[in-house]
Amino acid sequence: MSAALAPYAASRDSSRGRRFSESSPAYRSEYQRDRDRIIHCGAFRRLEYKTQVFVNHEGDLFRTRLTHSVEVAQIGRSIARTLNLNEDLTEAIALAHDLGHTPFGHSGQDALNACMKDYGGFEHNLQSLRVVDLLEERYADFPGLNLTFETREGILKHCSVKNAAELGDVGRRFLEKKQPNLEAQVANLADEIAYNNHDVDDGLRSGLITVEPLREIRLFGEQYDEVARRHPDLPERVRIHEIVRRMINRLVVDLVEHSRRQLQDSGVGSITDVRDSGQALIGFSEPVRDQSRELKRFLRTHLYDHYRVRRMTRKAEKIVSDLFTAFMDDPRLLPTQYRDKAPTTSESAAARARVVADYIAGMTDRYAIREHRRLYDPLELT
Ligand code: MG
Repeated sequence: MSAALAPYAASRDSSRGRRFSESSPAYRSEYQRDRDRIIHCGAFRRLEYKTQVFVNHEGDLFRTRLTHSVEVAQIGRSIARTLNLNEDLTEAIALAHDLGHTPFGHSGQDALNACMKDYGGFEHNLQSLRVVDLLEERYADFPGLNLTFETREGILKHCSVKNAAELGDVGRRFLEKKQPNLEAQVANLADEIAYNNHDVDDGLRSGLITVEPLREIRLFGEQYDEVARRHPDLPERVRIHEIVRRMINRLVVDLVEHSRRQLQDSGVGSITDVRDSGQALIGFSEPVRDQSRELKRFLRTHLYDHYRVRRMTRKAEKIVSDLFTAFMDDPRLLPTQYRDKAPTTSESAAARARVVADYIAGMTDRYAIREHRRLYDPLELT
């Protein structure tokens, strides 16, 4: 049995509801319903074949966006439960947070953003919201998944002022400099905990990074020393797993304890107080935040900028921009369901570009590679 929700947690009574009103579910909370709709949608299944850092075909043991999202949900739920926040809402936000990601991870997004420069740009947070608000077509009574305001608020992690102005309800907090609900703040940091640690694990497994330089990084080094002291004879793979799980635990415990203090000190008593508070109330203590940043910098230099990752990045950029160019030049190349939505006049270039971006963003890594071959390889059958 979970304990009662804290007064500042998101709850049915304080919910701002759905865009299209619906009767309440019979045996589930509103946020459970959100989570269930996310799990059943097509964009969620495609996360299985989208890159986090390693492209899908590089190996079966590496994280994909799907396993990453499941890890974020696991970490987020633990934190939410301990802080008496709404676990179902945290889970829904965590599972949906990457739905708008392009194929090939951040390089895919950067490439698509560059292609969309003159047409309003491309941003994966915004695209995740677009997926759940509009692009999923599954229900008779409304477009998208018709999720609650709180889940949508959590999905929209960042947003430019220009885009915020066009978004209405969920965009307003970026104009008014307010905070999202606490469950969204938890999911956001659970994301950071998950990727920092699984990138260490995947990076080591791939051989692109090694243990020795990582020992200089405090978060890793402290746990390395502790594990070496307690279990000097562990096989290498077990040792790494033991270190990584201790790093996750260190971060989660610090986050819970520091956030608990901040929540008490702030005196917030409702979700409205949370939104109105000048700063995020969920966070790491100062020393641990520094350590987390140190690890991020290490991963940037040694893993994300590793020449083998950069080579894949370059290919990804080429695939995405080639696809964009082909479809913009001739929308008749688009599959029928997209072609029907893509206006062809010269004045409607921005609307056409958005349809093309939606199509490309929805692709998995391997689908994008195949589609590129079908469009550019004269010997490839279509
Ligand atoms: Mg993520």
